[in-house]
Amino acid sequence: MEQKGTHSIVIIGAGPAGCSCAISLLNAGLSDVYIIDNAKGGKFHIGESIPPDMNFLLKQLGVYESFLEEGHEPCYGSCSYWGSPLRGYNDSMLSPHGHGWHLDRSKYNQFLVDESLKKGAKIIKEATYLGSQKTATGYQIQYQKKRATQKTLHADFVVDATGSRGVFATDRGSYKIQGTPLMCVGLRFKNKGNREVSKLTHLESVEHGWWYAARIPGEYLLVTFYTTAGVVKELGLHDLQNWVYLLADAPNTRDLLSQMEPVENKVRGFNAVSFCLNTMVGEDWLAIGDTATTYDPITSQGITKATTQGARAAEIIAYYLQGSKEALDQYQKEVKAQYEYYLTSRSYFYNLEKRWKDSPFWKTMQAKEVLENVQ
Ligand SMILES: Cc1cc2nc3c(=O)[nH]c(=O)nc-3n(C[C@H](O)[C@H](O)[C@H](O)COP(=O)(O)OP(=O)(O)OC[C@H]3O[C@@H](n4cnc5c(N)ncnc54)[C@H](O)[C@@H]3O)c2cc1C
Repeated sequence: MEQKGTHSIVIIGAGPAGCSCAISLLNAGLSDVYIIDNAKGGKFHIGESIPPDMNFLLKQLGVYESFLEEGHEPCYGSCSYWGSPLRGYNDSMLSPHGHGWHLDRSKYNQFLVDESLKKGAKIIKEATYLGSQKTATGYQIQYQKKRATQKTLHADFVVDATGSRGVFATDRGSYKIQGTPLMCVGLRFKNKGNREVSKLTHLESVEHGWWYAARIPGEYLLVTFYTTAGVVKELGLHDLQNWVYLLADAPNTRDLLSQMEPVENKVRGFNAVSFCLNTMVGEDWLAIGDTATTYDPITSQGITKATTQGARAAEIIAYYLQGSKEALDQYQKEVKAQYEYYLTSRSYFYNLEKRWKDSPFWKTMQAKEVLENVQ
């Protein structure tokens, strides 16, 4: 939708959702787009596999050609041992969008920030959102750069894209409807032999959870074990020795590591719980990406979802600023319907595994989850 005007849009968070929203707003003709972000570049960032349909989304944003120059690793599909000890494949040979990618995620995040800048976004880097006040015409947003004095910025409309923190939405009284307490513990490995690191994403289910391995640029392999917080505690999986010991149950994942050495000497844990915000829109604001909903990483849909929602939010904001107040409700309905659909597909996927009927992990993940009592 073409939209020319001087509305000031402040996006908090420069991840895939925030940047996709900024680029889409600027593509649509809005010129006053700010992004406030507190990330520090250069650090390892988890979340690296994107499916083939991301190529289409990057083309829609108008950044695909520059993306190709970034040198991320092609991913030709996935290979899984799930529901049976036999190998299954899901390759991207037949996808109309080509192959997927294994990203250097820090570099990808920086790429999105650079592309937003090129399109005309005003980026306030290394700045943390502190709070906001509603005014007659929008919000006064307070933010602060490290050791600098606090500043204020006016926004006609605010987009909360701060990931699972959801700082602005939480200030407006929204809360998360949480799903199962999934988490992962993982480690990066570096190739030290002549064997090529696989260009597929690998999955292997075991009694207490499932293993995931993905090549990342620089001949690295990221290996993570997904399970519930309870199992991590019970099996002491924050301890490297216990984590390595558990690999004995996963011969196919262990085999991938035969000519590799760990990059770090301790495993790291990441929260991977799914949730949906009860309310993701309000007067002159909306939430996108992981602020609105988070998905189980087994779907590899987090970045796609964030990018799609960012772009859709830009359309919704344009309608809203033209006077269509019901646009926000429409957006919320769409996002909740997508979340319901996601819960159904995830349940189908976990219920394909029938081998460990008494395992607390599989019982938890196979239980039906629905999004009830949400306004
Ligand atoms: C273990 C794990 C593995 C995953 N693997 C995959 C995968 O393989 N493929 C995939 O597609 N997805 C994966 N995901 C999900 C994916 O990483 C997220 O869905 C995606 O990053 C969401 O993008 P976002 O822009 O909504 O949020 P984020 O990427 O979290 O970005 C939020 C931004 O907001 C900034 N911010 C936060 N608070 C403030 C504040 N107060 N002030 C200013 N700025 C702030 C942050 O610094 C950050 O830059 C994985 C997630 C987890 C947990």
